[in-house]
Amino acid sequence: MSAQTKFFLDESKMPKHWYNIAADLPTPAPPVLHPGTKQPVGPDDLAPLFPMDLIMQEVSTEREVPIPEPVRDVFRLWRPSPLIRAHRLEKVLGTPARIYYKYEGVSPAGSHKPNTAIPQAWYNQQAGIKKLSTETGAGQWGSSVAFAGALFGIEVKVFQVRISYDQKPYRRALMETYGASCIASPSNETNSGRAILAKDPNHPGSLGIAISEAVEVAATNDDTKYSLGSVLNHVLLHQTIVGQEAMLQMEMAGDDPDVLIGCTGGGSNFAGLVFPFLGQQLRGGGKTKKRRIVAVEPAACPSLTRGKYAYDFGDTANLTPLTKMHTLGSTFTPPGFHAGGLRYHGMAPLVSHVKELGLIEAVAFHQSQCFQAGVQFARAEGIVPAPEANHAILGAITEAMRCKAEGRSEVILFNLSGHGHFDMSAYSAYMGGKLVDVPYDEAELAMALSGLPSVSA
Ligand SMILES: *Cc1c(COP(=O)(O)O)cnc(C)c1O
Repeated sequence: MSAQTKFFLDESKMPKHWYNIAADLPTPAPPVLHPGTKQPVGPDDLAPLFPMDLIMQEVSTEREVPIPEPVRDVFRLWRPSPLIRAHRLEKVLGTPARIYYKYEGVSPAGSHKPNTAIPQAWYNQQAGIKKLSTETGAGQWGSSVAFAGALFGIEVKVFQVRISYDQKPYRRALMETYGASCIASPSNETNSGRAILAKDPNHPGSLGIAISEAVEVAATNDDTKYSLGSVLNHVLLHQTIVGQEAMLQMEMAGDDPDVLIGCTGGGSNFAGLVFPFLGQQLRGGGKTKKRRIVAVEPAACPSLTRGKYAYDFGDTANLTPLTKMHTLGSTFTPPGFHAGGLRYHGMAPLVSHVKELGLIEAVAFHQSQCFQAGVQFARAEGIVPAPEANHAILGAITEAMRCKAEGRSEVILFNLSGHGHFDMSAYSAYMGGKLVDVPYDEAELAMALSGLPSVSA
């Protein structure tokens, strides 16, 4: 066992393909349905929103999808990202487990999200698209698209949830530094925004509303397409560069993970880390090591552990196609908590599908225990994690303490999806004792679930 801490891959070893788990699934994921006809959507139905290359990736069953060279060239700015052995955290915990994390906070935007923002902007540029519209909550996704737009000469318009727009001025400044425009949502620029402002001029906004506004702008302007930062198959595909690098780096470390862990909002950083490992297991026909794979979600927005596996809309105004996923209902408004990137009512269809197949587990934790874990991590390892990533850290610590109790030296690998440098107000709230664990409203969940669209099997 090496005592080495960081495992760096040479740029020449950066993956040349994305890994598509659709090629290895025992049964295919259910199709995406048209909201009107309730029949499977075809590529043309999605053409107003996305360039054809991304639509073809959305439905592809090829195991390997080549990463275009201009995209790999941009990735070289920060990829391959480091794999780090958490020696100091292991010591603090007194665990015999060996803990590793793949650190995605080294990207210019500070999270894994540029891994898909860069290819999305590139494919749009290749299709002659001049403008992209998108939504953002806390601002990680908006800054990633803004960065990608700057590199590929695409004008970017970001609808940011009003409450975050007001609370996190530095994320907005970052987007504007990259040349994007950032508008508080609900806004006066769209029909869906105006309808909401007419009823409540001080509406705090939501991710579902911001998605409706961004989709409306793309659907009604020929020169504009829409960009989504999670949930969709092609987004998960783009994130698999993370897990493929991690596989090579774990080999360098001479270890093989027993437990894989990621936090789940829409499911992209989790899938990006675990799908390449899961694919190896699926192809191995029982001969490959069977690893435990754990998704960690917020107890205030628990789609995988409390949601229903059903067809639902992706947004509040019901403009999107229907996807089968673990959902809390598209009208469900999660209570406010600090991991803005995890406040989404649904889960990626592919992550939902592998959960249904029993290939992954899921747990839910409250935010104060997650911040406690994040602070413990920062004091041992130095990195201040994004509030979202604190969920994965608590998942890893929980497994490490189980190993301690059972006297087992298992290998734990988790995705540290981003740093928390723009989220320090949340840390201030935690340290000032002002962070409360708000439970979601059971009655509202029941109502949102009873309003799910009916789709005959
Ligand atoms: C957006 C975000 C997430 C949640 O999104 P996923 O698609 O579930 O990965 C997690 N961590 C960070 C740092 C984020 O910015």
